[in-house]
Amino acid sequence: MEMPRPAPDEKWIRGLPKAEVHLHLEGCVPYGLLEPAAAGSPPVPVEDGIPLLAGLSALLSYLDWSCGQMSRGEQLERIAYAVAERARANGAGHVDVIVNPTHWPHWRGRLPAMVDALDAGFRAGESDHDVTSKLCVSLKRTQSKAEALELVEVLLDLGHPRVAALSIDGNEEDGRASHNERFAPAFERAAAGGLRRCAHAGESSGARGVREAVEMLGAERIDHGIRSIEDPSVIALLVSEEIPLDVCPTSNVLLGVVPTLAEHPIRRLREHKVRCSLNTDDPLLYGIDLAGEFRRSAEAFGWGTDELGEMARVGIESCFAEEDRRRSLSAELSAYLSP
Ligand SMILES: [Zn+2]
Repeated sequence: MEMPRPAPDEKWIRGLPKAEVHLHLEGCVPYGLLEPAAAGSPPVPVEDGIPLLAGLSALLSYLDWSCGQMSRGEQLERIAYAVAERARANGAGHVDVIVNPTHWPHWRGRLPAMVDALDAGFRAGESDHDVTSKLCVSLKRTQSKAEALELVEVLLDLGHPRVAALSIDGNEEDGRASHNERFAPAFERAAAGGLRRCAHAGESSGARGVREAVEMLGAERIDHGIRSIEDPSVIALLVSEEIPLDVCPTSNVLLGVVPTLAEHPIRRLREHKVRCSLNTDDPLLYGIDLAGEFRRSAEAFGWGTDELGEMARVGIESCFAEEDRRRSLSAELSAYLSP
């Protein structure tokens, strides 16, 4: 039996150069920006600014309540700036932020204005904290084929350098199907127009959802993807196509996707040579941060600096930052790992 090694210390983990690639803007609204007095009490109890969430439906109703209060550009700017600030505090030099316009009612039909407001916050974050950011604009699984295509056209017309990718999130299955065929044309159009692609799959959907995200949507990264472990042929596909999984262990435990951290499939996925990065998903909804995610995983799986360094490497290499930024973060990581 392998002897458990002492976990790398907090300072080393925090300083480890990273990129976060699975982070929802909806899970990054600071509680201090909300106005329970004006908007009515939150739909779930809140303790120290952290909602007490019992499962996915509580999370979604809290999102509606919190994002529904964000009507001014200045609020979005502050959310984006705080993302960069927290990234720096956790050693992350780049973040890919998923934003799903359907969660932001005040910005319906005003995506260009929304992107401009976020862009202002990210620019300030970059100049103050040296953190670069890209947006992955997300479809919701319940949208129609026409709505999906329309969103892609808006993004391509906009051509904003902050927007790097088309993404898809939300409950991955209704009954047994993920309806990927409905979204394939939008992803194809996005690819032709020069957008990158990522997709939530293998969280609420099984391994088949992951295969479809790769084969039908052309996903370059899979958000979660942990249920790939259920099908060796999907594992083989991820390995041969070098598709990384953007894994969020604490989120999976809190939402009941896996029973405990110790039973999380990330360890077995890595043993099968699937490339995995560590991420927070919705840090302010769970009261977690990226360094904590590295620390908890090290403790749960007996990982040392090699394993954590490798996962930081996957995050950096699979992020949608500009090529030169990715290279410089990669060099920073190499220097950190072999000083
Ligand atoms: Zn997610």
